[in-house]
Amino acid sequence: MTSRLAPIALALFAVAAPAVAQPARIAVVNVDGPGVGFNDPTPADPVGGNPGTTRGQQALNVFQHAANRWAANLQSKQLIIIVATFTPLTCSPTGAVLGAAGPNWYFANVDPANGGQSMEADTWYPVALAEKLTRVDITADPSIDPADAFEIFTLFNSQLGIGTCLTGNGWYFGLDNNQPANRIDLLAVVMHEFGHGLGVTVGPTNTSTSGARPLGFPSVWEGRMLDLTSGKRWIDMTNAERFASARNTNNLVWAGQQVTNVIPSTLEFQLWLTGISPAIAPVQPGPSSFGPPIARGVGLKGYVVSPADGGGTSPQDGCEAFPAGAPIPGNIVLVNRGTCTFNVKVKNAQDAGAIGVLIANNVAGPLFPGGTDLTITIPSLGITQALGTQLRSYATPPLVQASLDSSSRQGTTAGFARLFAPNPFQSGSSVSHFDVTLTPSVLMEPNITSDLTTKVKNPFDLTLALLRDIGW
Ligand SMILES: [Zn+2]
Repeated sequence: MTSRLAPIALALFAVAAPAVAQPARIAVVNVDGPGVGFNDPTPADPVGGNPGTTRGQQALNVFQHAANRWAANLQSKQLIIIVATFTPLTCSPTGAVLGAAGPNWYFANVDPANGGQSMEADTWYPVALAEKLTRVDITADPSIDPADAFEIFTLFNSQLGIGTCLTGNGWYFGLDNNQPANRIDLLAVVMHEFGHGLGVTVGPTNTSTSGARPLGFPSVWEGRMLDLTSGKRWIDMTNAERFASARNTNNLVWAGQQVTNVIPSTLEFQLWLTGISPAIAPVQPGPSSFGPPIARGVGLKGYVVSPADGGGTSPQDGCEAFPAGAPIPGNIVLVNRGTCTFNVKVKNAQDAGAIGVLIANNVAGPLFPGGTDLTITIPSLGITQALGTQLRSYATPPLVQASLDSSSRQGTTAGFARLFAPNPFQSGSSVSHFDVTLTPSVLMEPNITSDLTTKVKNPFDLTLALLRDIGW
């Protein structure tokens, strides 16, 4: 018996026949209203290989490009229809939900036809994958409203850069992943959201309040999700155990074989920061996205100093030039997060003669300093707020060393890629992403980074391997 879950309620303006029915197996259907989103007539200059001459046309070109990139990496005999719309999403001057997406349906126990494969019994699958495996056009079933006969829904923030929504920012419509510092690469965001729709999601299993499953069926993810504390896969857990595992930071991992196989070719060696004198147990710092990485061998070794900078909001934020004579040359400078961009802090320390920089977080949790500055020639690392406070507490500068460990990879535990499992739970982000500690950043992390591309397989990314693990 086929089981299905109703599509997630969406306020769609209208669902017309595909506006873009192309030979590719992934079709993007524009459901924006007149004058907005894909239909925005505002003139635009061609940018980054995107020849569109209006904002709407450029947006559609980005979506087609992403669809083509995904199509080139996947096999399915069934057309995948992606409904897309621009709409206002949660936003503030400093943060925004860029997009949201998911499978429009989940199915279980669909009988294969035309030489297709069986699905795992009593298991929820995202519809595009269920159709690929069974070779059945499931959404064509007469019991499904033609207005809901599509595989993936996607939403993108229409307000970016407008008014108080990520002030001074906005979408970049180029196709070359070469966005300027104050623009968000729409192509990377679309690639990410399409990834969710294809199956990078824990599915209908409840992770926010209970760990429960519709009809008691697990999702296809659950056989590949492992909790290293209990040693159990999600498929074998009780509801309460799943609920706890979704918050088990660093110990909820993806145990699918395809992902595990490509970790050594995709992720960097594990980075450790150790206190030599006084002794501080090794911690895993967050490498910056700019400046050189920590070199192999000795790595970065030196005394940590935290002299006052030139003033401003805080003398410990490193946002102003350090005064002449500050005891910085040859040392590692410790500054706090906040007030200015990470690369400004590192540049000020570099100009004063530092050999490296530690940036202490100003909230709980790890810190991975982002940004771009090609003039920075010294390495920098994010550390926790607590470690920053500890390093400042010593009467004489502590000696520390950051070095690479070839026996493990960054963002892994026990050789498995971590899933994003913060505590407290983050609705919309927890579980259905890789963890933020993976380095280099991968497409399916919860926060966008500036270095993403449209490459979804190793040695660039783990996403395709994850999709292969569930049957793609
Ligand atoms: Zn996401």
